[in-house]
Amino acid sequence: MENNKKQNLETICVQAGWAPKNGEPRVLPIYQSTTFKYDNTEQMADLFDLKASGYFYTRLQNPTNDAVAAKITALEGGVAGMLTSSGQAASFYAIFNICEAGDHFVSSSTIYGGTFNLFAVTMKKFGIDCTFVDPDASEEEIAKAFRPNTKALFGETIANPVLSVLDIEKFARIAHSHGVPLIVDNTFPTPINCRPFEFGADIVTHATTKYMDGHASNVGGCIVDSGNFDWEAHKDKFPGLTEPDPSYHGLAYTKAFGKNAYITKATVQLMRDLGSIQAPQNAFLLNLGLESLHLRVPRHCENAQKVAEYLEKNDKVAWVNYSGLKSSKYHALAQKQFTNGQSCGVVTFGLKGDRERAIRFMDNLKLACIVTHVADARTCVLHPASHTHRQLSDEQLIEAGVRPDLIRFSVGIENVNDIIADIEQALEK
Ligand SMILES: *Cc1c(COP(=O)(O)O)cnc(C)c1O
Repeated sequence: MENNKKQNLETICVQAGWAPKNGEPRVLPIYQSTTFKYDNTEQMADLFDLKASGYFYTRLQNPTNDAVAAKITALEGGVAGMLTSSGQAASFYAIFNICEAGDHFVSSSTIYGGTFNLFAVTMKKFGIDCTFVDPDASEEEIAKAFRPNTKALFGETIANPVLSVLDIEKFARIAHSHGVPLIVDNTFPTPINCRPFEFGADIVTHATTKYMDGHASNVGGCIVDSGNFDWEAHKDKFPGLTEPDPSYHGLAYTKAFGKNAYITKATVQLMRDLGSIQAPQNAFLLNLGLESLHLRVPRHCENAQKVAEYLEKNDKVAWVNYSGLKSSKYHALAQKQFTNGQSCGVVTFGLKGDRERAIRFMDNLKLACIVTHVADARTCVLHPASHTHRQLSDEQLIEAGVRPDLIRFSVGIENVNDIIADIEQALEK
């Protein structure tokens, strides 16, 4: 939708993506169809040759999905986007679209555990190597990780669960001085609080599973391209985009699709061959979540700020990490990068005493439930050392930036007084 760029985020959340014509459904329909009908053979043939654009098979594209991808693209201020079946699929496609066997990329070490496994273990099996860097290291230090075959730099705006804040401008400078794009996972702040393209990121990924859906009802992902990275200027590095694709009669994506080259390739090549499409049903639910994203995210942050301040004052609490607190080493960066300095609804903290203390505290919570999930309407809590990261020793945990006593507290949109009362009674026990 052309005029979205001029609209405000709140309006985009509610309105973008689906613009019904006269007599069409007001609400985005679920196109529950694997296939699409054409009047003659040639029309269909042109679609398969990418000579014409249109739908033919839902594994590649579906109108419900595309409407929702267009909304997220407008929220991020990008030129093109696509939905994927999960956040993991989005991270995988974002890298695999520009890396092949023999290539290398650099990633921040403080990233979501699932992404860490994907990059460190599974990508290696594809012949793609990843070097992890401390995101807070100097530009010179991070630059040392680059090699002649490096094709991308990756980071998380706010890392799950470490909550380190990525200096996107610094990362963009490093990526661009090496002729590669910066890919940023923007799941935790969402575009309501941060739009990474404004700070120089080239591609953004999301686990829409988290705040975007917001109700813990469906797993999904999204990739958005800013259209700013000049693949042709670095054509020796990105032959997959700039050289003829034998699976499309020698078409070259940059020449045929210009600024849409990256997302077009990910759709017509990776999605065609690997097939991690989001179900249109899920895209419909995701769209309902997006319609209230601009209302929910500020409330999550407001509540999280109060919870963080409460915890910081409590003498049973050893430490609190939340970029909204003045004591956070990321406070200044959060003020600069995030709308109203708001980051997300997730707070991490540790209790005085041993690791058992954290477990006892969590077992005594009543309103806050113990779940693997994070970033939805209901307050929830997780102890990474006992759950998501339980295979790691205390030394390995510290290396991954996850302290053994770290409690990840995902503040929901209930009344904050009830959330704090729950914490208080659990601390007292
Ligand atoms: C959850 C999460 C992912 C993975 O998303 P899934 O939808 O669970 O596959 C990726 N990045 C971040 C920051 C996440 O929190």
